[in-house]
Amino acid sequence: MKQLKIAHLYPKLLNIYGDGGNVLTLKMRAKWRNIDVIVDEINPGDVIKEHDIYFIGGGQDLQQIEVSKELQFQKKFLTQERDRGAVFLGICGGYQLFGHYYQPHNGDKLMGISLLDAYTVAGNKRFIGNVTVQTDIVEPNTLVGFENHSGLTYLKGDTKPIGNVTTGNGNNGTDKSEGARYKNVFGTYMHGSFLPKNPHFADYLLELALGEKLENLNDKIENCAHNALISKKY
Ligand code: GLN
Repeated sequence: MKQLKIAHLYPKLLNIYGDGGNVLTLKMRAKWRNIDVIVDEINPGDVIKEHDIYFIGGGQDLQQIEVSKELQFQKKFLTQERDRGAVFLGICGGYQLFGHYYQPHNGDKLMGISLLDAYTVAGNKRFIGNVTVQTDIVEPNTLVGFENHSGLTYLKGDTKPIGNVTTGNGNNGTDKSEGARYKNVFGTYMHGSFLPKNPHFADYLLELALGEKLENLNDKIENCAHNALISKKY
């Protein structure tokens, strides 16, 4: 039986707005295809071993301070994992720490681990609300979620957006970009949680991690939730 190993990074610190639902979605969508799934919760001080997918959720500035310090000890290993093609998904605060740094309103710069060529600075306005995105990564070419952040993220070099917002603010509320991708590292500001309402993106991550196409599932309910947000008039 095929096996999939998922590392859930610092769930006791970065896991707001139901972001843990992303791990549950990846786990169940693999199990429904008779794939054996192991989910390891990684907490501060743990030694991280090789996994197929690494997930980190969002959180408040305070929790990001602790995770920023902890991630510096994991930077070398996680960079090696990125470069061998492992899949990463970071949501909001976790996404910010996949970049070079996050400069909050108050206090010191929080160092990231530069898996993405990106940086974040706190803005004066909090972006809160639904987000819809046009993307060329998956078909259908839409993604939906919910944002709640003051951080403004800017991408550089070969790190590209996962798409452009049609509703909401995305990375910084000015360049229309949302999220980021470099190699198989993905970040997004979309909470919700993100993957249950974007099953096509969940399967894209699973296929990257497993290295094979997966059979389709009956996503009638998931697609109803997705389309309800796409058709909602804002
Ligand atoms: N504290 C960060 C910000 O406000 C991230 C918030 C979050 O993860 N929702 O931008």
